[in-house]
Amino acid sequence: MDSEKLISQLHGLKAVFDDKESELTALDREIGDGDHGVNMKRGFSAVAEKVTEGSTQEILKQTGMTLMSSIGGASGPLYGFSFVKMSEVAEDTIDSENLATILEVFAKTVGEKGKVSGGEKTMFDVISKTADLLREKGSLDLKSLQALADDTEDMVATKGRAAYFKENSKGTIDPGAQSAVYVIQALGEGVQNG
Ligand code: ADP
Ligand code: MG
Repeated sequence: MDSEKLISQLHGLKAVFDDKESELTALDREIGDGDHGVNMKRGFSAVAEKVTEGSTQEILKQTGMTLMSSIGGASGPLYGFSFVKMSEVAEDTIDSENLATILEVFAKTVGEKGKVSGGEKTMFDVISKTADLLREKGSLDLKSLQALADDTEDMVATKGRAAYFKENSKGTIDPGAQSAVYVIQALGEGVQNG
């Protein structure tokens, strides 16, 4: 995935989150404040508008800065800061192995910034498993990514707003885990299709 392809994949997420806004809103209404759909839509609309050129490293960094300044809530700084850190390990052309490294940094950053580990029902539960998934399967298919988000359904949230729901947070997929599926799918697709 060269810089042009990376831009096109990131711009594509605007349409994805336009489409998935209501799904993410519905999930966040169950175990949060119902703004995650709007947050992701606003974030990637801003990316499509503002991030238009540069090297892969510059594009990822600009994406991070844009997400940080345009998404409110917990997910903005987590996604935003992660993209900035991911930019530091990106190569000029991102191949499958480089993407695996990028995804490791994604997980490490969310883990540190969110003070979160596995099984706490957050985006980390998806992000942290994707580098291994990519190395094992050679690609990141939607079905496998969705299975990771689906695994959060039975978890009890211990981080973020969903933690206030305690046992009642069970039975709903974590909204951030669901949005992470789409973000990572876009990156995986970019590597797969050149
Ligand atoms: P807010 O919770 O402030 O309304 P969003 O609704 O945009 O923000 O994002 C909620 C998502 O953020 C959750 O579904 C979860 O995946 C993620 N999240 C919240 N807190 C943390 C944390 N400490 N570590 C990792 N992810 C978190
Ligand atoms: Mg919310």
